Amino acid sequence: MRELAKKQNQDLLLIDSGDKIDGSGISDISKIHGQYSTPIFVKQNYDILTIGNHELYLLESSIQEFKAVQEYFPDNYITSNVEFNNNGTFVPFGSKFKYFETEIKKTRILAFGFLFDFKRFNSGTKVTPIKEEIEKQWFKDTLKQYQGKVDLIVIAGHTPIDHNWPEFYHLHKHLRKYYPNTIIQYFGGHSHIRDFSIFDKNSTGIQSGRYCETVGWVSIDLNKKDLETKERFSRSYIDFNLNSFHKHSKKDIKNFDSEKGIEVTKLVAKTRKDLKLNTQIGTVHSNYYVDYVPIDHPKNIFNLITNQVLNDLPGSGERIIIINTGSIRYDLYKGPYTIDSQYIVSPFENKWVNLTVPKSIATKVAEKLNEASYISTTRLKPPHHYLKKEIVYSDEAKDKKLSKGYVTHDDFGSNGDDTPHKPVINFDIPNVVQSVQLNNEIESFIDLVFYDFITPNIKWALKELNYEIQEGENPTNYSEIFLGKLLNNYIAEKSP
Ligand SMILES: [Zn+2]
Repeated sequence: MRELAKKQNQDLLLIDSGDKIDGSGISDISKIHGQYSTPIFVKQNYDILTIGNHELYLLESSIQEFKAVQEYFPDNYITSNVEFNNNGTFVPFGSKFKYFETEIKKTRILAFGFLFDFKRFNSGTKVTPIKEEIEKQWFKDTLKQYQGKVDLIVIAGHTPIDHNWPEFYHLHKHLRKYYPNTIIQYFGGHSHIRDFSIFDKNSTGIQSGRYCETVGWVSIDLNKKDLETKERFSRSYIDFNLNSFHKHSKKDIKNFDSEKGIEVTKLVAKTRKDLKLNTQIGTVHSNYYVDYVPIDHPKNIFNLITNQVLNDLPGSGERIIIINTGSIRYDLYKGPYTIDSQYIVSPFENKWVNLTVPKSIATKVAEKLNEASYISTTRLKPPHHYLKKEIVYSDEAKDKKLSKGYVTHDDFGSNGDDTPHKPVINFDIPNVVQSVQLNNEIESFIDLVFYDFITPNIKWALKELNYEIQEGENPTNYSEIFLGKLLNNYIAEKSP
């Protein structure tokens, strides 16, 4: 693609907007997530890259991110509001900003990288909210320093570009004070959807889906002075597969592979083999979906988990087990179930804890957590449900014999998907689901079991239900056999 752009006298920039770990065996099977996948990731030639929240949950991941990514991309790694505690001093993970000229057209670019207001960063790191960071002197000085010397501002951020997420729009207002007419392009992330937003006449933002399913493409005409937004910008969501890449690189299958590409393919295959990711644990005889079918459908994965898998959690007596729906990351597909599958479907290794509470209270906790008013203040669901958009069905999409996939509606309309699809429906799913394992309705104290991760939410619900847990009373350890392991055992024994 770079060669192709060069031939056409154009520049092509490749940008990554963060979250490199969690959700696949190749990154998560090692104690330090990313230990084996980061050396593969850095083989790509990024012009700008930034950090995601997943690099900040555990200190070990952050240390690795700081060392490896910084080393490979000393100039291109931009983290304007995220810092690392390097022997007692907080320093940016990468650079605070980057000012550069493109190779072909000599376009002068000022770039920043911003992470959303993430609170659960580990103690060796620090995220300053965008609204605070942009009030700092360095940011003001930088904006002033380059006034009159910038053709394009690029914001690579692990932050949603949705109009209902205020952070980038706040930043935008600020940028416009110094650069009233400069073209500004945002590259967002985090909420796992394909999306494109118009910020103003000379500024747009794109978000490129989730899990490497999409390459988000933006082209910007910087030559002409006065253009309408739709004349200046265009966008496309390219399905991340070889067919798409053959088509857009204008290379046939025979001539597509580059030497480096073959090398990286071999490295991926070798790493997967070394990590034994293809080792089969069992066989699954049906597809089980997160949200392509309603929550009570036999092929819904939460139905399988609450009615079958969670019965096998060690323990005795009457109990209710609650999990947040965000603890399942992907559909469970028919066919061989491998070590890799577990990391894709249920990667989180949380501990189970329990509180002993009256049955009449325990049975109401899930309902309370699912009350609509609570949804906006917490993140219990899978990320693509945070800013879910309503699907509008066009007749075109219904009629054709298309494969199922994304049908995206954004500020530019409904023509953004590079490959047309028949739309998949994402049914609503609740914040939490529960496995009710009770013998009768007689009031008694029972175990309320949940992941330690959602302890604050459970305590909140109990309080809302007017059930006082004693001060300092904390959940006790229940089991260390996390959901992924339970699922492995269940599939190995019962082949659902
Ligand atoms: Zn994220």
